[in-house]
Amino acid sequence: MPAPDPVAKTAAPLEPFLVDAHCHLDLYPNFLEMIQESEKHAIRTLAVTTTPLAFQRNQELTAPTQYVRAALGIHPQVIGERAAEISIFEKLLPLTRYVGEVGLDASPRFYSSFQTQERIFQRVLEASAEAGGKILSVHSVRAASRVLKLVEKFFPEDRGTVILHWFTGAQSEAKRAVELGCFFSVNSAMLDRDTGKQLIRIIPPDRVLSETDGPFLLKGKCPVRPLDVGDVICAIATVLNEPTTDVRSRIAQNFRRLLKGNSNRPFEV
Ligand code: MN
Repeated sequence: MPAPDPVAKTAAPLEPFLVDAHCHLDLYPNFLEMIQESEKHAIRTLAVTTTPLAFQRNQELTAPTQYVRAALGIHPQVIGERAAEISIFEKLLPLTRYVGEVGLDASPRFYSSFQTQERIFQRVLEASAEAGGKILSVHSVRAASRVLKLVEKFFPEDRGTVILHWFTGAQSEAKRAVELGCFFSVNSAMLDRDTGKQLIRIIPPDRVLSETDGPFLLKGKCPVRPLDVGDVICAIATVLNEPTTDVRSRIAQNFRRLLKGNSNRPFEV
């Protein structure tokens, strides 16, 4: 595993803002209020989308914000019906630095489209690599090793960054992902399970980000929202036996590093 980035370690302490690196803001009934909530609390929120058409509205509504950014997605679970929309994806790609949700899903319900998913994900990776500098939020349910093979082949590390969202692959696959330069966005459901706790112990701390994956996860009976990402930070801190404030600052630093920190804007377009 590569050594932790010395810059991240020695940088002066920065304001430890919250990061929600994967949330479906447009799937809440009160989409606009959700954007405003992230904005009000300065939560760096990556609003992932499931189709290229949904991205357009997300882009319009988030463009005036400081802290919320829309990601262009073509979700593996909709590829069965929507593979043709890859051409719209490719047309819209120049409008954003952020891509997601994309990836592969080999669970039984979606397995019939797996070959198509692979073909589409390859095109997503190739187009993003060609454009350069993109940040991808990637789904890899039951398909971690296939996702990593495609990333290795079609998305070289110097062409952009992959964030593995809700990663549930084996430890050997996590190590491979680290070698390929991937980040991991971790949510509360992952940390409820021993496998997720083990994972967070083996991933280098400088590759960890927080996410809610709202509204798909619940807190009590209500869908989680970006403000609840503090719970994820608490859970990570508990597993690693570290102060919550340290975990929170490190995730903020990781996020800055991910964005390359070459701008005064809090969240670059
Ligand atoms: Mn998701």
